[in-house]
Amino acid sequence: MPPSIGLLGGSFDPIHLAHLELARCALQQLGLDEVWLIPAGSPWQRGALGADARQREDMVRLAAQADARLRVLDLELLRSGPSYTMDTLRELQAAHPERGFVLLLGADQLENFLSWKDWERIAASADLAAAPRPEHELRPAPELLAALRAGGHRLLRLHMPPLAVSATLVRDHAARGLDLRGLVPPAVADYIERHHLYRPHPAPHGHP
Ligand code: ATP
Repeated sequence: MPPSIGLLGGSFDPIHLAHLELARCALQQLGLDEVWLIPAGSPWQRGALGADARQREDMVRLAAQADARLRVLDLELLRSGPSYTMDTLRELQAAHPERGFVLLLGADQLENFLSWKDWERIAASADLAAAPRPEHELRPAPELLAALRAGGHRLLRLHMPPLAVSATLVRDHAARGLDLRGLVPPAVADYIERHHLYRPHPAPHGHP
């Protein structure tokens, strides 16, 4: 079944312009109907997050307003415990048996793929589409290609210029009070400012 829905999961702490460009390229180059943005409830490979789940979801919803083909799914936010991609994929495939899904990811996550929980089952269950990212190679591990092939799936390559935007950079800019325009959509920049997100904690009283 050719994929018609792209799934883009992430911490989205916060969502930024490279996420949106990745989604746009996938829609265009893979001929998808929609991209579903899936904020992770508790990203298991990450430490403490800067914004809480509600705030990350709010920002994803603000960013998704730019394109009617972007949908926001809260299933990982509602699930307790760590967010595993295989659980999400299984749930979505059961709920939408008529749809083909493709998992969208950046080159950093492609490099990291063999550390994902159940990576072999994921690769046997859906196509992957990877986008370039600065300082990362779009070179899949041979084991990954073998697992995709075993399930009749493929690794697709998205063509976009490597964009030096990351959520880490956005948080760093916000912490230093720098302008976020050019990194996140204006509505997300306003949200971060209004909610004082990613600001350094004030020093405890009596300390410099
Ligand atoms: P952080 O800097 O906090 O690690 P991030 O910018 O990597 O975050 P995530 O929410 O962790 O953002 O990423 C979600 C997905 O989007 C991942 O598959 C990631 O590879 C991809 N992605 C994020 N930024 C880019 C980028 N600049 N180019 C291509 N893919 C990206």
